[in-house]
Amino acid sequence: MEAAAQHIAVEARLTGAGGRTVFLDAPPAGGGTRVAGFAATDDRGVALPVQRTGGGYAVVHEGPGAVRFRYRLSFTDSVSSGSTASGLDSARLYAVTRGLFVAPDPVLLRKTGGAYPAIRVVFILPPAWTLVSAWDSAGPALAPRSGDDLLDGTLAAAGDYRTYADTAGGARFALAIRGTRGFSDSALLDVVAEGLRRGAETFGPVPVPHVTYISDTGRKGRTSGSLQGKASIGLLWEKGELLERARSHDVFHETLHLWMGGVLETERWWTEGADDYFAARLYAEWRQDPAELAALCWQSLRNYEGIPRHLTTTMAAEARLRPGGDNTQLLVYRKGMLAALLLDAAIRKDSHGRRSLDDVARSLLALAAARGRTVSEAEIGAAVAEAGGSTAAREWRRVVAGTDAITAGQVAAALRVVTGVAPPPPPQPVEHPKTLSRTPTP
Ligand SMILES: [Zn+2]
Repeated sequence: MEAAAQHIAVEARLTGAGGRTVFLDAPPAGGGTRVAGFAATDDRGVALPVQRTGGGYAVVHEGPGAVRFRYRLSFTDSVSSGSTASGLDSARLYAVTRGLFVAPDPVLLRKTGGAYPAIRVVFILPPAWTLVSAWDSAGPALAPRSGDDLLDGTLAAAGDYRTYADTAGGARFALAIRGTRGFSDSALLDVVAEGLRRGAETFGPVPVPHVTYISDTGRKGRTSGSLQGKASIGLLWEKGELLERARSHDVFHETLHLWMGGVLETERWWTEGADDYFAARLYAEWRQDPAELAALCWQSLRNYEGIPRHLTTTMAAEARLRPGGDNTQLLVYRKGMLAALLLDAAIRKDSHGRRSLDDVARSLLALAAARGRTVSEAEIGAAVAEAGGSTAAREWRRVVAGTDAITAGQVAAALRVVTGVAPPPPPQPVEHPKTLSRTPTP
């Protein structure tokens, strides 16, 4: 594909920003994009002086009125080589919006008490491409509701999206799919709708009024093909993938991030590992098959046992160390999921089935809502102890505060408590069948 197609143009108009110098941040390095040809004018087309700053641009605008700017965005990745950054190739655009926009930093503006300027964005895309985003559209321009809305989404465009819209769990959602895989669009629609519906039943209303799912093909070899957004979720599939247990579980996992990580921020083992456990349990409940939960837990246990630091490092310490690795190689995922299972079982046992880890999740979400998002690990511990008494507190000391081993026997016992049935035994490691030597001749 020719290099010229690796660019798109972006135009934006900021109102409520006049009469002062406007500071704009450029997309972060490593986001898959580069900005070039940045230029600004006022509404009458008079050029405004622009200065480079450490992380972006300063536009000097002494007069009243709006600031307009435009720039060319070049992409360093194609869509097929990354799902957590931004990519463009001859057939489609897929982007985490923080990687695209030159815009005022919403965090900084909040700190200084400034209102976020109203922003309208126009993408100049190849002809006949459909743009998919969670934002309200105002004619040809997109109108994000806030700076967070502008920068915390995902966005996609292509000429051949099939788009679906529906309601689930009290929220509207849109699903845009391109390409064909080993499953139907309606099968994916069902998984998306059930994730939202069961998430809302368990944790309370979907935190955002509208959720966008974008389903596309991605890089071969990725073990996780999805990413979280606060209102939009990207799902990348390799060619020929099936919508079986692992990938349906992934869709649930990403959907539950609307709550865990979306409106509640805390230790990663909770936002990733407990999220993963809830996703597995809710998926198995939907399928009415406890064996689905058991299979996902056994797999987690096998991965956990293969992580070298699993008996020496707590999950919080691992999160601070920031080691590399995907979600099969990190304790915050694999031990986090098992810890959530054990805590859920302990709470149910201690309360004779009257409470569960769901009550802990709901109380943490309420705490996060009351104070603006962040909850500490000590507060998770307190909520666990309140729901599950000394049984749960003991489990917490072993597997969250401590590094005691989680064993197959403990996982089996916890699965029995949570599902009410005896779980199938862990699958045995596959042994190569013995090759028979030539039958001895008598
Ligand atoms: Zn996640």
